[in-house]
Amino acid sequence: MSDKHVNGWIGFDLDGTLAEYHGWGDGSVGVPIERMVNIVKQFIADGYTCKIVTARVSTREGQELQQQKDYIEQWCIEVFEHPLEVTHQKDFHMYCLFDDRAVAVEKNTGKILGHCPSLGLFQNKE
Ligand SMILES: [Mg+2]
Repeated sequence: MSDKHVNGWIGFDLDGTLAEYHGWGDGSVGVPIERMVNIVKQFIADGYTCKIVTARVSTREGQELQQQKDYIEQWCIEVFEHPLEVTHQKDFHMYCLFDDRAVAVEKNTGKILGHCPSLGLFQNKE
């Protein structure tokens, strides 16, 4: 592993990005999305730290929060054979975030690189 990414990490949204999401249901985590799961596995194999970034752990408390942590940990063990760190916060060490709701923007220019499928915005950016 190269030293260049020892302190950084890559974030992956859970619902709709790593796991299928078709509504809240019983609150458990959906079926793994193989394409994105394989990307995480490759980053891990390359020595990167990968974290799950999810609103599931942003506002809940007590038993409800613990239940979500348990769901996510169990899902990670089934998919990756070990838990991944779970957070709802960015920090200065986050290299990038894979998220079905995020819209990529070019640094320091405001140029929109992605689009917003849920609102149908920025489909034709040029
Ligand atoms: Mg999502």
